[in-house]
Amino acid sequence: MTHVREEILGMAGYTPGEQPQAGKFIKLNTNENPYPPSAQVTQAIRRALDSGLARYPDPLCDSFRHRAAEVLGVDPDWILCGNGSDDILTIVTRAFVAPGKKLRLPFPSYTLYHTLAQLQGAVSEAIPFRDNWSLDEKFHSHTHDLQLAFLPNPNSPSGTLLSPEEIRNVLEQLPCPLLIDEAYVDFATTDCLALVRENERLMISRTLSKSYALAGLRFGFLIAQPQVIRQLLKVKDSYNCDTLSIAGATAAIDDQRWLAENRAKVLATRERLTKALSELGFSALPSQANFVWSPHSGRPVQPLYEQLKSNRILVRYMKYEGWQDGLRISVGTDEQIDACLTLLKSMV
Ligand SMILES: *Cc1c(COP(=O)(O)O)cnc(C)c1O
Repeated sequence: MTHVREEILGMAGYTPGEQPQAGKFIKLNTNENPYPPSAQVTQAIRRALDSGLARYPDPLCDSFRHRAAEVLGVDPDWILCGNGSDDILTIVTRAFVAPGKKLRLPFPSYTLYHTLAQLQGAVSEAIPFRDNWSLDEKFHSHTHDLQLAFLPNPNSPSGTLLSPEEIRNVLEQLPCPLLIDEAYVDFATTDCLALVRENERLMISRTLSKSYALAGLRFGFLIAQPQVIRQLLKVKDSYNCDTLSIAGATAAIDDQRWLAENRAKVLATRERLTKALSELGFSALPSQANFVWSPHSGRPVQPLYEQLKSNRILVRYMKYEGWQDGLRISVGTDEQIDACLTLLKSMV
């Protein structure tokens, strides 16, 4: 195919985690929430469906912005909605990074950032974490043509969290805007919301995919100062969120009680999983997210992944160049985690 842009021909494309047919596997590989969402969500989607889909949706998703603004303690014009937070990351990349210029990201982290840079014809500059997953000071160094930096916090696959103070320090020295990807922040102890008020170069992306159990709905959002949001609105597709997802997302963020209860369940299972993995000899890292990063110094882990898979349990096997490989295990229900642990026990 010769007419396609060179950047596209030359790139591999992003590979998401396996999504096998429903029901066949215990799925602990893509950090979905194992519980059903708030009942309010299903009701709101049914109501929206009853009102029909002949009309275009609200391009600004104002119902969501108003409700989310109340929950977060900002004004609605500090919020931009997207078709999943991946859409938000795309919009921000397109708005800030010109072809040929640089996008900075830490390594290992979310591999989609690199793909977004490639699509934009930009250069991604990966800064390795230190061995203990703290941020290397190169991350805030000045380089020619640097236009944007992405930083997931908590990070994936490590599940580690940088403090708001560390991030403020990075931001002060960094010469470009910084997007903190808070996809997992609802499972963590701190967030960076306060920093958005202090500095227009800081943006936060969030998603309803993980903590609200709505990965299939596709809804994410950005929090940034209004003058930033106004520019980004020009970049997004006119109707990037649909009527059903706006209704569902608004109902989801409205139900903060559901969120608190779900969070408590996931965190309790996470602590149990981490402890059990350590007892099995994994170097399971204390996690601030809904998964546990588990390398093992005593034995290769890829065969464990394979054996789990042949027993219908799917976890994520990850190997990053220059790093010890490991299993990233999502926090499922207690029953799912027990099934996974029982199998692992029989293998190690
Ligand atoms: C899951 C994930 C996202 C994507 O979330 P969607 O809203 O489902 O697109 C973004 N960033 C990180 C680090 C993630 O793990």
